[in-house]
Amino acid sequence: MLPKGRLVVISGPTASGKSTLWNRLVRRPEVEFSVSATTRKPRAGEVDGRDYHFVPEQQFLQWIEEGAFLEWAQVHGRYYGTLRSEVEACLARGHDVILEIDVQGVKQLQESGLPLITIFLLPPSMEVLEERLRARGTETEEQMTQRLEVAEQEIDSAKDYMHQVVNDDFERMEAEVEKILGYQKEKA
Ligand code: 5GP
Repeated sequence: MLPKGRLVVISGPTASGKSTLWNRLVRRPEVEFSVSATTRKPRAGEVDGRDYHFVPEQQFLQWIEEGAFLEWAQVHGRYYGTLRSEVEACLARGHDVILEIDVQGVKQLQESGLPLITIFLLPPSMEVLEERLRARGTETEEQMTQRLEVAEQEIDSAKDYMHQVVNDDFERMEAEVEKILGYQKEKA
């Protein structure tokens, strides 16, 4: 029998390298991507059942009622949720599931009593986070202030995670996360 996979959560504030890391980790052979459900409309190029299960709000609300979600949240007025059945199927196949979900979703998972590995990515400092956001150049001054405020609140919850990893250098940070998860370094 295959060893059961593990449920892993990676969180971090804006510009913490979370999305890049997650995109790299889900391509590993040990890892499977759990397809979330959402009520938002598909964007160009997105495929139902691959990127998300795109469902009407009524269906989503019914799934909440039925306890179909391990966690769910409302983001920008739309619903997003991790389906219990999806995660259980991946874990039973012996693959790890790495979720990139918001702090609210993580709280629900922690309260569910499920075995979890939780990792929080930290910027080296608020100054560096601000510099990285500025370098990205995609936000207005007002949006920057807002994002930095949210980031500060999110960083406050880092202590509730099992591992805190500082993203001072992407490659080093990735190697530290791989070590925590017991993965071999991927060949370049
Ligand atoms: P997007 O609409 O850009 O695909 O995602 C918007 C946000 O929803 C992202 O911040 C993403 O982390 C979050 N999200 C995506 N899937 C889930 C999920 O299953 N649960 C929770 N709680 N958040 C999710």
